[in-house]
Amino acid sequence: MSSANTVTARVTGVHDDIVSIRMLRDAEGEFYPLTKNEVVLICPQRSEAGRTEKLQAEVLRVRHGEADVQVFETTRGVAIGDAVEQTGQMLSVALGPGLLGQVYDGLQNPLELIAGQHGFFLPRGLAVDGIDQNQKWSFQPVVKVGTRVKAGDLLGRVPEGKFSHKIMVPFNLRGEAEVSWVQEGSFSVATPVVRLRLANSQEREVSMQQRWPVRVPVNRDLLREGYNQRLFPQQPMLTSIRLIDTFFPVALGGTACIPGPFGAGKTVLQGLISRYSNVDIVVIVACGERAGEVVETITEFPNLPDPRGGTLMDRTVIICNTSSMPVAAREASIYTGITISEYYRQMGYNVLVIADSTSRWAQAMRETSGRLEEIPGEEAFPAYLDSAVRALYERAGMVQTNDGSTGSLTLIGTVSPAGGNFEEPVTQSTLRTVKTFLGLSAERAYKRAYPAVDPLISWSRYLDQLEDWFTRELSDGWVGQVKRMIELIRDGEQVQQMMQVTGEEGVTLDDYLTFQKAQCLDQVYLQQDAFDDVDASTSLSRQQELFGLLVRCLDHPLKLEEKEQVREHFVRLSGLFRNLNYSRQDSPDYTRFLQEIEMVGLSAAG
Ligand code: ADP
Ligand code: MG
Repeated sequence: MSSANTVTARVTGVHDDIVSIRMLRDAEGEFYPLTKNEVVLICPQRSEAGRTEKLQAEVLRVRHGEADVQVFETTRGVAIGDAVEQTGQMLSVALGPGLLGQVYDGLQNPLELIAGQHGFFLPRGLAVDGIDQNQKWSFQPVVKVGTRVKAGDLLGRVPEGKFSHKIMVPFNLRGEAEVSWVQEGSFSVATPVVRLRLANSQEREVSMQQRWPVRVPVNRDLLREGYNQRLFPQQPMLTSIRLIDTFFPVALGGTACIPGPFGAGKTVLQGLISRYSNVDIVVIVACGERAGEVVETITEFPNLPDPRGGTLMDRTVIICNTSSMPVAAREASIYTGITISEYYRQMGYNVLVIADSTSRWAQAMRETSGRLEEIPGEEAFPAYLDSAVRALYERAGMVQTNDGSTGSLTLIGTVSPAGGNFEEPVTQSTLRTVKTFLGLSAERAYKRAYPAVDPLISWSRYLDQLEDWFTRELSDGWVGQVKRMIELIRDGEQVQQMMQVTGEEGVTLDDYLTFQKAQCLDQVYLQQDAFDDVDASTSLSRQQELFGLLVRCLDHPLKLEEKEQVREHFVRLSGLFRNLNYSRQDSPDYTRFLQEIEMVGLSAAG
């Protein structure tokens, strides 16, 4: 941000990271205008750092001549009378080539760069460019002098790793413009590559980077002008996790939440999803979990091999805030992540955003609301929690962009309710919004039934919404069969509860059979070993084969008279299926186990 901003206000009060300011009057005697969400810079006079510090802050509330602003850094040493400069901009991020592979804090400061220069976290009052301003990128234009363009139109391409990065007309351009100059070659992101003649005959220079305010969807104007269309999700985002893809699917461009108590496996599950899902780009927002865990995420994750070759980091952006970072930066980080994701969706890519955890984001909102002395809602969360959660998830979706390509943004948020109590406000608000609910249970985690997603409480609206897709790609009765198997699990659970009271003897042979079938389904299909190279990831075609075979075995009529025989039958069958799960599809073992399963499951006792 430039240092030539004018001083337009003075500090009148400090309350933790909320600072009250009073506007100064301009030459005409009017207050300088200030708008909500504008970024201002607080300049403490008594700086301990021995340099001019400019603390970024966002305007939360404006009253006549006064405002409350939230500072993104510690307010230590800020005093009454300190100068406040106005930037005239909302909190925004830089968009352009060079985002992939980066690890940022919530305000898009690159952490690795900072770590090299300043230790792990950024000293107060410094801001570092989100995109390297020196690196050169090879720009290949697709427009010529005279081409007429509008916001979001393609100007040219830049190779960014294995991706073709589209350079687009700034999303905030109004109306049509004409290309009046263009150059091809290798340039830094700030170098003008195209000049546009606007409707009012003014010229506007366009470089490979543009800034965009994080709280505004990147395609807001493009949708409004009809340059872009929102599309209904049309296909699943395949995760290679059987329980998700088969039973509780998430759509490409859809929404899901993973609530669960501490230690139930949220972080492991999100790691699996980000590694194996059929998306192009993954953006991970590590939002305010413990510092140690975040450091783990950013040191281990980048080195994981990508199942498609290279390392995962080549197609990942990490936004990371720990609970030790200022609350405002934590709250902002999720929007920073989503804005970067929307930018790549605009290029026609499928982007997955994983926010771990949205509870920390909501808590940051609660702290701020409390300091502003707003009227609190349930459990002191602000009354607008519900609409804030909804607005967040609404940024997911499938979009047809200017050039007719489609891109998607899938948003998965974990929720970490205290004590695993799903009745608390953040979980409840999220449940009202998302279309897939993957509820982790401490009980299943305790039994090491991983992924500890509880099939009895989880649901997905996409099972019905994507029925056409499943029918076309898998089989006619796919969705019906899945629902029948969910019923089996329910029925099995009921028998189990009965048996806890009456013992095995107290239930009929039929009921006992139901219980054993449900157990088998759970053990060989729902449960999946994240730490086995083969079992960790099951392709859809393999799921189709496995599920079909399993359902045939479970449907097969058994001529067994004794519960003991029933149990033995399913112990044997489950063992074979588990061996199958651990075998590569192209191995002799795989074929052998398939044959054995057919023999045991479809004939012997039938
Ligand atoms: P949370 O994020 O919900 O607090 P974690 O994801 O860190 O929990 O998981 C806690 C521990 O549970 C992990 O360190 C691991 O040992 C075990 N675990 C979780 N998920 C799985 C899984 N899918 N397979 C095997 N072990 C798992
Ligand atoms: Mg975790």
